Amino acid sequence: MSASSQPESSPCETLDVLIVGAGFGGLCTAIQLRRQGIRDFVILEQADDVGGTWKANTYPGCACDVQSHLYSYSFELNPDWSRAFSPQPEIEAYIRRCAERYDLKGHLRLGTRLRQARFDEERDEWFVEVEDGRRWRARVLVMATGNLSLPSLPALPGLDQFKGKSFHSARWDDDYDPRGRRVAVVGTGASAIQIVPGIAEKVEKLYLFQRTPPWILPRLDRRFSRVERWLFRHCRPFMRLYRNLLYWRLESRAVVFTLAPALSRLLGLVCRWHIRRGIKDPDLRAAVTPDYRPGCKRVLLSDDYYTSLVRDNVTLVPHGVQAVKPDGIVAEDGSEVAVDTIVFATGFKATHPVPAGQIYGRDGLDLVERWREGAEAYKGMTVSGFPNLFMLGGPNTGLGHNSVVFMIEAQVRYLMGAIAAMREAGATRVEVRRDVEVEFNERLQRRLGRTIWSSGCRSWYLDERGRNVTLWPGFTVEYWWRTRRFDGAAYQLSSSPEPAARAETARAA
Ligand code: NAP
Repeated sequence: MSASSQPESSPCETLDVLIVGAGFGGLCTAIQLRRQGIRDFVILEQADDVGGTWKANTYPGCACDVQSHLYSYSFELNPDWSRAFSPQPEIEAYIRRCAERYDLKGHLRLGTRLRQARFDEERDEWFVEVEDGRRWRARVLVMATGNLSLPSLPALPGLDQFKGKSFHSARWDDDYDPRGRRVAVVGTGASAIQIVPGIAEKVEKLYLFQRTPPWILPRLDRRFSRVERWLFRHCRPFMRLYRNLLYWRLESRAVVFTLAPALSRLLGLVCRWHIRRGIKDPDLRAAVTPDYRPGCKRVLLSDDYYTSLVRDNVTLVPHGVQAVKPDGIVAEDGSEVAVDTIVFATGFKATHPVPAGQIYGRDGLDLVERWREGAEAYKGMTVSGFPNLFMLGGPNTGLGHNSVVFMIEAQVRYLMGAIAAMREAGATRVEVRRDVEVEFNERLQRRLGRTIWSSGCRSWYLDERGRNVTLWPGFTVEYWWRTRRFDGAAYQLSSSPEPAARAETARAA
């Protein structure tokens, strides 16, 4: 099928904006579009409700490791968070409430999975097909699918022969009862260190397969007192101040990660103290103590991980997994354990967030092909060769130190500026200049080379070439500054030679 042709099987609605994903990013875009008076948009969501990652991740113990008063929209503060770090159901409920409050129901197409999006160069529109055959055309396409949505599962020999139950942490089976089970948890990242305390008390036996130990700080989670909650509800300036203090406290951590990596030694001291406090056995202490610099991988937060590891029914296996047998797991050192459940807390395809064959830009170029040398974008949002496409949570906009919701809001503000600029100029196409994109990314990579994340460990921040394609290299306030206005000079704006095309398409549909 050529870029401009389309099958005649189903009608094709023409829109101003099409958003993919109904998590924090997609809904923020929708809310701001409505505020700008733009109502001609839909949101495609593969799940049966809104929530994104906070709907997908339902494993026991799932909670946010950024304080919820900060991990929420700046324009929709929530006085009712029950704890400093809210559990997943509260965050999911918050997102659902936002969708209701901002009247987004009519825009949502739930249970709708994107199959393919192609840029139609004749009409300057994205032609979008979903798995059930429905089709849309849209001037602007917003990919708000996040970079932690495609589970990464190791290709282990023998897994297909396993007689028990196995699933990825982000595909938790809510009907699964861990009581009395012999469970293997593979991985010791942010998900695993919540799952282990979440199920340790219930299972008969838990084997935790650790390939690389994480550095972990105390989370210091607690319930808010009645007085605090009263103040959050009845004294808005107090809630705003609380949020702002959190923001600057977390923002200061960027100093360690990006400007003065040597300071990470101090982090290491606290983490080691945390290990000593939770674990008495010297062998276990040694096994959970990392040998790389704190901050190189994401520094995790937990109050109950180490105390779970010392339970009688929990065994740390300080190795990766070599193979799976019908009734157990073989570790990399050759030892075997019998289990009836395997939980893969093995992370996500963060450096390859878009599958091949999904997004085609100008000249029919697949975005995955375009990113063969590594994912990159201008300000994490736009890619040359892919006009009218905006990504939220795109390359190099992830964080190791602060709330991604802040980044999302900055991106959506920029996107609104781009749409306004297109309207003002009567443009039907906006595309970032390749020279600007190259210069931006060269500078970005030079900066990333000096950060703690490049200090020599393997992490999901780096792709297989060792290039950091996921994290923003500095303070989020810098990102906010750089995206506060749409910088039209970095783009080529043009008009379709066929201005009547949209009207014709609409009539044909
Ligand atoms: P992750 O941090 O990428 O951790 C994956 C774990 O699986 C690592 O310990 C990794 O070991 C291990 N692993 C991968 N393949 C393996 C294999 N073949 N054999 C043995 N071990 C293997 O993934 P995640 O824990 O799902 O977290 C991903 C990100 O999601 C987090 O960093 C965070 O940004 C977000 N998240 C946030 C929260 C929260 O807010 N609380 C919770 C969950 C996730 P190596 O280290 O050796 O590679």
